Amino acid sequence: MRKITIIGGGQAGLQLGIGLLQKGYRVRIVQNRTAEDIATGRVLSSQCMFSNALAHEAALGIDFWAKDCPPVQGINFIVPNPDGSGTRLIDWAARLDRDALSVDQRVKVPRWMAEFGRLGGEMVIADAGIAEIDAYAAEDDLVIVASGKGEVGRMFARDAEKSAYDKPMRALALTYVTGMTPRQPHSAVEFNLIPGVGEYFVFPALTSTGPCEIMVFEGIPGGPMDCWADVTTPEAHLAKSLEILTTFLPWEYERSKNCQLTDANGILAGRFAPTIRHPVATLPSGRKVLGLGDAVCLNDPITGQGSNNAAKAAAVYLDRILAHGEAPFDEAFMQGTFDAFWAYAQWVVRWTNMLLLPPPPFILDIMGAACGEPRLAHRMANGFDDPRDFFPWFADPAAAGAYLAQLKAA
Ligand SMILES: Cc1cc2nc3c(=O)[nH]c(=O)nc-3n(C[C@H](O)[C@H](O)[C@H](O)COP(=O)(O)OP(=O)(O)OC[C@H]3O[C@@H](n4cnc5c(N)ncnc54)[C@H](O)[C@@H]3O)c2cc1C
Repeated sequence: MRKITIIGGGQAGLQLGIGLLQKGYRVRIVQNRTAEDIATGRVLSSQCMFSNALAHEAALGIDFWAKDCPPVQGINFIVPNPDGSGTRLIDWAARLDRDALSVDQRVKVPRWMAEFGRLGGEMVIADAGIAEIDAYAAEDDLVIVASGKGEVGRMFARDAEKSAYDKPMRALALTYVTGMTPRQPHSAVEFNLIPGVGEYFVFPALTSTGPCEIMVFEGIPGGPMDCWADVTTPEAHLAKSLEILTTFLPWEYERSKNCQLTDANGILAGRFAPTIRHPVATLPSGRKVLGLGDAVCLNDPITGQGSNNAAKAAAVYLDRILAHGEAPFDEAFMQGTFDAFWAYAQWVVRWTNMLLLPPPPFILDIMGAACGEPRLAHRMANGFDDPRDFFPWFADPAAAGAYLAQLKAA
């Protein structure tokens, strides 16, 4: 039976590894942290996943939290009034056709590591460098690098044509809390866009201590929400989070004023440049390796798509490997596998990159129109599950105008 090594056991690497084991492949995952390190470590993501991505987990039987995780049932998009009155200029909400879920990776990854072991997978706890990866490539039929934002991913050259930015576009922060007043009449990602300042979104999730809410701050670099550098303690992080809400989003502060951190590690601050990389790298020996997930397709979290992309990519790679049978995993196979994923992901990347720029007037028109047009609001909410549906009308003023006119006439 063919043997495959995967460097990195996150959403993409573990999902793919478990899928391959279930089909009888021999799989080794090299992971640079133990399950215990991950479970007791710092949060890394807000990992909200929509139904198409969740379906890939369900298909493998690893959706262990489907019943326990509080559902995210809709999207609520809000733009505060710039006059400082504390009112909302734009405010629409719509239900998702199927719930989204966010399971803390500190819960998910250790459980999936255990499942990988139960199915007979070989888990190596080590920080793989180029020399080790080259040695695995000499032994195995295929090596896949799914190392997320890990340094080793730099072996894949940046694709300047596909990468819209070469610097971080947002200062990011996460705050995991309990004690927030639930949104009524249904749960949702409350997505607040504060022009010139950044975005704040918040939604229910499941963490190690049980249900929680995750606050996500996306501050425009140099702006008032790019404010985490001097925050050194968990208590100060929570206080800063609430200070942002009271300053810019009083309705969010009202829901959140009695919040407590889920745990001292339920916080994060950082930034990175969204980057697409060439998916095939050449090792010193001349052997080739294939990149997967964030290692080669790293998006800003503004649209909450990274884990969704990782799950969808892992599903595409699994299908391609199975369909390849006993044929050699050569460079053409590797490039073709990424291309099959990119046929989908290019739209996600384009949509995400658009939202990192100040919204042009036609986008504000669309967002405003959705307040009085439930079909438009519904379409935009469900676009998070499949962003291909935003095109062309969300990208092109003429297409947007035609679509809005068509809605009005209908
Ligand atoms: C603030 C923030 C909020 C986010 N919110 C969302 C959201 O709401 N929805 C969403 O879909 N996505 C979100 N994301 C993105 C999402 O978390 C990632 O896209 C997703 O985790 C990528 O999965 P992956 O498997 O590619 O990489 P990862 O999950 O990063 O896994 C990579 C693994 O490889 C290991 N590793 C790295 N280097 C090595 C090495 N040399 N040797 C061995 N192991 C190695 C790492 O320790 C890690 O375990 C968010 C990200 C951030 C930063």
